[in-house]
Amino acid sequence: MRPLTYSLLIVLSLTFSKVNAQNTQTVDRPKLVVGIVVDQMRHEYLYRFYDKFGSDGFKRLMGEGFVIKNGHYNYAPTYTGPGHASVYTGTTPAIHGIIGNDFYDKGLKKMVNCVGDPSQTAVGGLAKYGQVSPFRMLSTTITDELKLATNRTAKVIGVSMKDRGAALPAGHMADAAYWYDKSSGNFITSTYYMKELPAWVKQFNSKNLANIYLQQEWKPLLPLEKYTESGPDASPYERKFKGKETTTFPYNLPAMRKDNGDFDLLAYTPFANDYVTEFAKATLVNEKMGKDAIPDFLCISYSTTDILGHAMGPRSVEVQDLYLRLDKNIADLLKTLDKEVGAGNYTLFLTADHAVGENSQFLKDQGVPGGHFSPNRAEAMLREFLEGYFPGKNLIENVSNDQIFLNHEAFQGAPKTSGLDFFIVAELIGKYLMTMDGVANYFTEGVLRQGAFDEGGVKGMIIRGYHPKRSGDVVFVLEPGWMDAWAVQGTTHGSPYAYDTNVPILFYGKGVKKGESTRRYSITDISPTLSMILNITIPSGAIGNPVSELIE
Ligand code: ZN
Ligand code: ZN
Ligand code: ZN
Repeated sequence: MRPLTYSLLIVLSLTFSKVNAQNTQTVDRPKLVVGIVVDQMRHEYLYRFYDKFGSDGFKRLMGEGFVIKNGHYNYAPTYTGPGHASVYTGTTPAIHGIIGNDFYDKGLKKMVNCVGDPSQTAVGGLAKYGQVSPFRMLSTTITDELKLATNRTAKVIGVSMKDRGAALPAGHMADAAYWYDKSSGNFITSTYYMKELPAWVKQFNSKNLANIYLQQEWKPLLPLEKYTESGPDASPYERKFKGKETTTFPYNLPAMRKDNGDFDLLAYTPFANDYVTEFAKATLVNEKMGKDAIPDFLCISYSTTDILGHAMGPRSVEVQDLYLRLDKNIADLLKTLDKEVGAGNYTLFLTADHAVGENSQFLKDQGVPGGHFSPNRAEAMLREFLEGYFPGKNLIENVSNDQIFLNHEAFQGAPKTSGLDFFIVAELIGKYLMTMDGVANYFTEGVLRQGAFDEGGVKGMIIRGYHPKRSGDVVFVLEPGWMDAWAVQGTTHGSPYAYDTNVPILFYGKGVKKGESTRRYSITDISPTLSMILNITIPSGAIGNPVSELIE
């Protein structure tokens, strides 16, 4: 051996031994992160229903984990697609681009679903329910970052009744996202993720659990008189199921099934939460998640809380019963995680994709301002108004999600030739909207573009929810307590107000201190906090900050 080669070898071996010495201390990471989104969950439910919860569900998370009591969405519109995307990207629709559940695509000139992707099809179910991918989400998720940080060796899977509740959290690089096919009652996925369902999913589906759940009667868990935290079961503020005379327990599912969308009915019952829990547990076990040192990420989203929540509202016995049962699902999930991954080896967070308002008529009956706004009627009036000023110009292309999309072709050419000035028309529209009952304010595209990203108040909420390329030309905001006319019974969400923005943010497990905070945090702080616990990169568009006081 020549001396030079020999000395080179010595240098090399010295270098290696140094690296090896450093490697004896590996990066400390949880084996598994579990994200739970409870669709439409209000923060106050944790406390209003507290006395009726068991000790090993929500109370375990609250008592042994960290509770953020003043956690908020920091943009509007507060809808499901934007909510799930914002939790997992750590940013807002202005950057991640998910501006609604369904929104107007200016290029395609039609409404599109936020996870709709015609280039994909279903795997394991009806084609139309599987045309899904997260391609419209423009920035990375915390789950994408985990994939990148581990050279794609981390396993990332999303599970929900809703396609968007599974696909957005799991991100662009996910191993799988599974959701409910309401034509068959099965869990399905799309060709974006795989060509064929794994054998264990096929086997899970073959148990026909959806069918079994729908053979039951839904009765309250406790005697009805114990639901003192909610209003009466028979209530004018609740929506009636088709073919059912009353808004009261019991709900005889076999009798209701035919009139209420067959398998779709399951999504309105607590048994759908049982179903998602069973599937999440099966995912954990069959995919061997959290079994090695490389962190995995399981994203669970419970949808019934929103679907039934819309129909019944936050004062209903039905919704309270749903949460008492969800408490048991959470306990069951924690028990399974302790067994499969080991207590102290996993980190869990629980939040919501938005909260929800009170029924507007209920508010009015209590003397609180509120009302119903009809977007269809507003659109018709607006068209008529503009026709008076600019006959035959057909200036409105679309009205959706409280936004007016103008027909930009009508404005081509100088104002002198077209007879139209874009800014003047936008202001005219806004001024006219302000004459309508329930409209609180409006913001034109030009005004939003000039605003600061961190601006306060309602204007700041709209700026952060406004995507410069995708959103409309005029945005309007309703007054507090006002909602769309379709929610005369039941309720809805979407506003920038506290009742829609204040959601639970609970952290629990590895890397998390025990405690609580009343400081104001934003939903966009969740992913940066997870980045610190996982020791990985913060998602590309993230605007939030880690919640330092909860990190161990
Ligand atoms: Zn939702
Ligand atoms: Zn009822
Ligand atoms: Zn909803």
